[in-house]
Amino acid sequence: MVNPSKTVLVPDLRAGCSLAESITADDVRLLRERYPGVPVVTYVNTSAAVKAESDVCVTSGNAVEIVEALNVPRVIFLPDEYLAKYVASKTTTEIIAWKGHCEVHERFTGADVRRFREGDPKLVVIAHPECPPDVLAEADYVGSTHGMVDYVGEHQHARVLLMTECSMADNVAGTYPSVEFVRPCNLCPHMKRNTLPKILHSLETMQYEVTVDPAVAQRARMAVDRMLEFSRSRQS
Ligand code: SF4
Repeated sequence: MVNPSKTVLVPDLRAGCSLAESITADDVRLLRERYPGVPVVTYVNTSAAVKAESDVCVTSGNAVEIVEALNVPRVIFLPDEYLAKYVASKTTTEIIAWKGHCEVHERFTGADVRRFREGDPKLVVIAHPECPPDVLAEADYVGSTHGMVDYVGEHQHARVLLMTECSMADNVAGTYPSVEFVRPCNLCPHMKRNTLPKILHSLETMQYEVTVDPAVAQRARMAVDRMLEFSRSRQS
């Protein structure tokens, strides 16, 4: 959507996302009818059709700042319920949430964190905001994958527990080989479908091309562009 001249391939058509599949464009239209005039803020893990019904997209890293920047009394925040609760805990803006979940992050529990801490009281716990609230309540730091990388780099703790999807945790751990990471490995079954051999096959055969209705893409791009404009304005 942000670069329409490029070809986008998905190596395995079964690679979905529980979060993206939790909401449809019709659901967003119904929410707009129920809450007229309330802006719709949408996490990037959503379909183009859902983005097209939204006012602005967010990532887990910029969600709080963008909600605050809208400067309105309340927003509809879609589709991750736990990320919505986390954002609500960081702002005075009223958050109307949806009950979408990431099937990987929702499996972590606060009891898991306590069990790890029992064996190592000095363990530092960092968690992704798609985790349930009891996990976030136990964490020393909550943030996006990028935020986790920065946090670990700044603090250089000896042992760190990573409460996030296993491959994402690998990215954080790979950046700091001197830190010992504890990784309760919850793998995303969807992301793991896109294996290296399938990627090679995809490139050799140019299958399967992702196409988006141009009218939908144009509206979805507006929501994405608003987020990118916000990021640019923060950098300048
Ligand atoms: S980890 Fe998998 S299910 Fe969860 S948000 Fe990412 S792609 Fe979706």
